[in-house]
Amino acid sequence: MSCLFCRIVAGEIPATRVFEDDQLLAFADINPQAPMHVLVIPKQHIATLNDLTDAHDGLVGAMVRTAATIAKDHGYDGPGFRTVFNCNAQAGQTVFHVHLHVLGGRALAWPPG
Ligand code: AMP
Ligand code: ZN
Repeated sequence: MSCLFCRIVAGEIPATRVFEDDQLLAFADINPQAPMHVLVIPKQHIATLNDLTDAHDGLVGAMVRTAATIAKDHGYDGPGFRTVFNCNAQAGQTVFHVHLHVLGGRALAWPPG
């Protein structure tokens, strides 16, 4: 298995897990860009947003709702937080297993770089 995030799901690579259920895993980003920086991923391997089909609608909805719950658990529902999906090279995607960044705890500039 060569995918880094599939290896985290399998427990072959350690991660600081913050949420897990039958279809999703959330863990701390190893290079945090904000006081809270969590990645929410599907347990099944999906390389990019381009690979989603309508069969994934429930999964993606669960990812977004999980991100909001994690932000709320950190107390950032009121102050605000950001969710980001990067897709392919020009957006800066480096790990080709779909992941939703959840960032909070500081003011975040817009537009992103
Ligand atoms: P992206 O650039 O959108 O593909 O984001 C990939 C993210 O994965 C980056 O923010 C990395 O810091 C993060 N990352 C890479 N390796 C690990 C790891 N072993 N554990 C946790 N996060 C990681
Ligand atoms: Zn994978």
